Amino acid sequence: MGVRVIRTLSFPVGELPAPLLGLLAEFRLIVNKSIRIALCKDIRSRHRLTRAAYRTFSAEHAVYKQYIPSAFEVALAVLKVYRRRMRKGKRTSIPFMRRLMLKAENQSYRLDRETGRLRIPIRATEAVQLHVPISEWHRLFLHDSSWELGSMTIVPGKVLLAVRKEAPRPHESTSAIALDTNEDSLDGVIASADIARLVTLPLDGVRQVQTTHFRRRRYLAKRKAHDRRVRRRLLRQDRQRERRVRQRLHRVSKSLVASAKDRQAVIILEDLSLHGAGGRSRRMNRRLSSWPRREIHRQIEYKAAFAGVPIIKVNPQWTSKTCPVCGARRRDRVGKDFVCLACDWEMDRQINAGLNILKTALASNEALARAVRFQPGALRHDVVSPLYDLLALPTGAREEPSGVEPQAGAITSPGL
Ligand SMILES: [Zn+2]
Repeated sequence: MGVRVIRTLSFPVGELPAPLLGLLAEFRLIVNKSIRIALCKDIRSRHRLTRAAYRTFSAEHAVYKQYIPSAFEVALAVLKVYRRRMRKGKRTSIPFMRRLMLKAENQSYRLDRETGRLRIPIRATEAVQLHVPISEWHRLFLHDSSWELGSMTIVPGKVLLAVRKEAPRPHESTSAIALDTNEDSLDGVIASADIARLVTLPLDGVRQVQTTHFRRRRYLAKRKAHDRRVRRRLLRQDRQRERRVRQRLHRVSKSLVASAKDRQAVIILEDLSLHGAGGRSRRMNRRLSSWPRREIHRQIEYKAAFAGVPIIKVNPQWTSKTCPVCGARRRDRVGKDFVCLACDWEMDRQINAGLNILKTALASNEALARAVRFQPGALRHDVVSPLYDLLALPTGAREEPSGVEPQAGAITSPGL
């Protein structure tokens, strides 16, 4: 069995009918009662929660019965986040769901995929009809029967529908693209059986958007933090900034995955969830926000799964402080360039981290190590090229010694 790809489709639906709003309130109540019970009795599984509370809830709440297990699931998910925060000793309050919502599994609702007519049961004998507006974009999923309908979440003004599909099997890799994720670019190396090149993939001005935004935000927050109108404006700006950054990242992730598919390459990235350790985190914490890094990883991962492009994630610890040639580590701060104290290796810090990311992946993946030949020392004088320029070169090209720039004529425009 392959991986499943899940997409969430969002439909604006305006004001919800009163019976449905009532149901949302009831659902929230069941979720909050479930949270309390699960917390008191230290329950972590849906099975146990069902035994402890299903009978009481179905007597106390006149709702369609299938919503009760969905409420258990939502409650357990909320608690999981809470318990994780507790374990890490972070400040947190007893969890409570404030927002109105309903989560319905696909056997609870009926959606006409052609017309957008949606039927949601309220209780055994009562249901409401809604109409969800289907755009061209939604049609791509709803009119393609290989996408199955998953769970549906309803909040005031919006219906969110999960659709899922079996992902294609990832291809066998004949090359690797290893990239270190930075504020304004992804940097590293592309390597195959016969050639390796240093590459960079600019994030299309994301840093500029971020910096401008945060400067303005700080200014406003400092002067008028207590003004509610200002606060609302700040929130609106946050959302705008997020949308703008996200669009740019989509362009980048889309073309990276398309290129990897063309080249039968595996994409290797740091595992950002293991981020705590190493010299790296301090560097990132000083930054305004590391959200774009997580966002581009999220995008690359789901697009890759969808395209059958394999992804490897490696532990980022020491990647920016290790010499890829001799393995020596620096324990002090690394400047713009990494300079090895043991051998005479010297390399841009971000590219250097990308080289280490590839090395780490090769060390733990035999099949890949057989397919890809990688000697970082040979890249000492290589020129860093934009990834797309390199990918536009013919595959399996002539044996090209590292350090030789590709002829200008060979570089075609990226056109991606
Ligand atoms: Zn060294």
